[in-house]
Amino acid sequence: MRDVVIIGSGPAGLSAAVYAKRAALDVVVIEKEPFSGGQIVNTKEVDNYLGMKGISGFDLATKYKEHATELGACFLEGNVSKIDALKDKIKVELSNGEVIETKNVIIATGAIHKKIGAENEEKLTGSGVSYCATCDGAFFKGKDVAVIGGGDVALEDALYLSNICSKVYLINRREALRAAKSVQEAVFARDNITFLPNYTVERIEGKFKVEKAYLKHTINGEGKEIDINGIFIAIGMEPVTDFLKGVVSIDDNGYIIASEDCRTDVKGIYVAGDVRTKRLRQLVTAVADGANAVYSLEEDDKLYMVQVTEE
Ligand code: NAP
Repeated sequence: MRDVVIIGSGPAGLSAAVYAKRAALDVVVIEKEPFSGGQIVNTKEVDNYLGMKGISGFDLATKYKEHATELGACFLEGNVSKIDALKDKIKVELSNGEVIETKNVIIATGAIHKKIGAENEEKLTGSGVSYCATCDGAFFKGKDVAVIGGGDVALEDALYLSNICSKVYLINRREALRAAKSVQEAVFARDNITFLPNYTVERIEGKFKVEKAYLKHTINGEGKEIDINGIFIAIGMEPVTDFLKGVVSIDDNGYIIASEDCRTDVKGIYVAGDVRTKRLRQLVTAVADGANAVYSLEEDDKLYMVQVTEE
C-alpha cells in the first residue's frame, strides 16, 4: 500500500512529489509519456516564472524531475484507466491491468489546449503559434498577431495582446461571440483590434516562424491572407479526466471541482494544476497546487489518525 499515488508528471505533479517526499511519504508518480513536464516541455522559453527568466520548458521540466528523483520519488510509466475509491483504500488501475493500492491519490493530469486543425499548426507551435497569451505575449511586442476564438479567453487574450502588440486580428468562426458583453465592448473600443467574423484559419505559413495565415470565409468560401508574426489559439481546453467519471465531482467544462486547498469531494483524492477548477492556469499556480494538495493530505491524515486513536 502506497501513501500517495500522483497521476501526472507536469509541474503540479512534480511539485506534489517534492512536497510529499519532504513529508516522508512513500510516493509513486505515474506518467503517460516517457518524459516529465507536461505542457511546458513544448515551451521554448519560460519568461514568467520567478527567478527562471528565459529558461526552456524542457530544461525546467528536467530540473523538476531531477529534484523529485533526488528526494526519492519513484516514477512509473503507464496510463491510468480507472480509479476505485473504497472505504479504506484507493485502487488505481492501469490500462495494462496493473493495480496499485494507495491511501491517497493526487490527480495532476492537466488539460490539453484544443487545436484548430490548420495546416502547419503543429509544426509552428512554439515558433509563433501559441496557446497562451499570458505566457508568450511579451515575445510579440510591437508586432502583428491574430487571436482565434470568440469566448471569454479569446477576447481577454485579444485585450491583453492589444496592450503589447501593434495590431491584433480577432478571428471567429461565427458572427456571434460567446464572451461576456462587457468584454466584447472593451474589445470593440480598442483601435488596434480588428474583428474578422465568419473566418476559419486554413493554413499558417512561415519558413522558421509564423509569417502569414490563410483564412476561409465560412459563408461565401472566399479566401483571405493576413500578414502576422504570431497566432494565439484560444478555442478552449480539454481537461484530462476521462478515467474519473463518477468518482469525483466534475463541472460542466470537465474540470475537477476543488478550491485552493485542492481537496475533491472524495476522501483521499486531491487535485492539482490545470485539471482543477481555477481562475488562472499557469506554471506558478500549478506548482503552488502541488504544495497545497500535499498540505491538505497531511492535515487530513493527521485528523484521521487522531480520530482512530480516540476511538
Ligand atoms: P469557450 O467559451 O467555450 O469558447 C470557445 C470559443 O472557441 C468559441 O467562440 C467557439 O466557437 C470557438 N471554437 C471552438 N472550437 C473551434 C474550432 N475548432 N475552430 C474555431 N473556433 C472554435 O472557451 P473559453 O473562452 O476557453 O472559456 C472557457 C470557460 O471559461 C467558459 O465557460 C468561459 O466563460 C470561462 N471563462 C470565464 C472568464 C471570466 O468570467 N472572466 C474568463 C475566461 C474564461 P463557437 O462559439 O462557434 O462554438
